[in-house]
Amino acid sequence: MSETKQIPYKIYLEENEMPKQWYNMRADMKNKPAPLLNPATLEPMTFDDLRPVFCDELIRQELDETTAYFDIPQEIQDFYKMYRPSPLVRAYCLEKALDTPAKIYYKFEGNNTSGSHKLNSAIAQAYYAKEQGLKGVTTETGAGQWGTALSMACAYLGLDCKVFMVKCSYEQKPFRREVMRTYGASVTPSPSMDTEVGKKILAEHPGTTGSLGCAISEAVEVATTNEGYRYVLGSVLNQVLLHQSVIGLEAKSAMDKYGIKPDIIIGCAGGGSNLGGLISPFMGEKLRGEADYRIIAVEPASCPSFTRGKYAYDFCDTGMICPLAKMYTLGSGFIPSANHAGGLRFHGMSTTLSQLYDDKLMEAVAVEQTSVFEAATQFARIEGILPAPESSHAIRVAIDEALKCKETGEEKTILFGLTGTGYFDLYAYQAYNDGTMSDYIPTDEDLEPGFASLPKVDK
Ligand SMILES: *Cc1c(COP(=O)(O)O)cnc(C)c1O
Repeated sequence: MSETKQIPYKIYLEENEMPKQWYNMRADMKNKPAPLLNPATLEPMTFDDLRPVFCDELIRQELDETTAYFDIPQEIQDFYKMYRPSPLVRAYCLEKALDTPAKIYYKFEGNNTSGSHKLNSAIAQAYYAKEQGLKGVTTETGAGQWGTALSMACAYLGLDCKVFMVKCSYEQKPFRREVMRTYGASVTPSPSMDTEVGKKILAEHPGTTGSLGCAISEAVEVATTNEGYRYVLGSVLNQVLLHQSVIGLEAKSAMDKYGIKPDIIIGCAGGGSNLGGLISPFMGEKLRGEADYRIIAVEPASCPSFTRGKYAYDFCDTGMICPLAKMYTLGSGFIPSANHAGGLRFHGMSTTLSQLYDDKLMEAVAVEQTSVFEAATQFARIEGILPAPESSHAIRVAIDEALKCKETGEEKTILFGLTGTGYFDLYAYQAYNDGTMSDYIPTDEDLEPGFASLPKVDK
């Protein structure tokens, strides 16, 4: 169908058009993602193996690769209504500035106080913890968006929330920390002396500014050693992609209303949750052979899990206490440089996206930090939104693809995920504005120790 209706700048769904179910892409995958393995036995993790760490209902979602649709509990649907549907924006102004025949759309997830898409899964995970009668949850946060989202969700539901925040972010982003504390969470810089694994990491790497992998280990330890607590994770896991499918389902419904079909779908990839969520219904069609889309994951050149990582079983955390996941990884021993996209500094990747990438159902590109901020600045000036550094990775590649269309004259439709706002990332913008930002790209030699830390698993 061609564009018979004038497309508005913003397409919103009505409340009654919002998704009532999440969609589980794995149900339509022929090659399922490899199972999580128990690090002690190397056998697939069972429900019982995971119970000390995760909430029961979330484990069921994690392990379920056949159920395509999960009902969204009414209480979560009601919470979603406070800040969703998120707008699908036609970037008319950006198209004009780029002088491109491409049609650019973005799904904007920054319209809530946590400033990112993370709230979509935070409320779901907190809800299931509450349903199970737990006292509270523990987690890690890198850039701080996940910790903020979880603090908000826990405050709403009356749950305790303990956050381990990667030390360099804790120091760089004191205001994020205060938002979390305002929502009632306790925030500890990681690695800390509060946990056994934290003490061990500090003994081995004195003065380390931490990593997501370290903070995960600490949060898991606290969850498993305190009665009534479980650990929750803001990305990577299948359950998180499931909850984030709300992004893609809304985007698809909004596009369908106007007969719009994207040719290219672009998202930044840290652990893969926003991208996995955005592409869900589109990938579903692709997997079922109903439609085709070009899908591009964008990652930082400083932490290139897809483009330079190995597809192998690895630990999700530095302390090597979490299950093994088969994913594109730089090795749990890889500690990325302190680049400014904290949310993209994870050594691994969603197992689902890893399988899709390995099956060539999606592509990946790595981009350098200064070119990302160049795109961010251009976008802020033209479209008005100050984007998060993570989101700006997707903006970079959306602009690049739109410029290619300008050369070829093709009128492609581009959809990208604008995952959040960058108000807490102004040190990064300052470095860019002052011209002091650098582009760190690890050499093959720099990547060696991480690969050497991969566990030996014949699967
Ligand atoms: C956390 C975060 C990301 C990256 O995480 P994914 O799980 O890969 O989506 C991207 N953008 C923002 C704004 C984030 O907070």
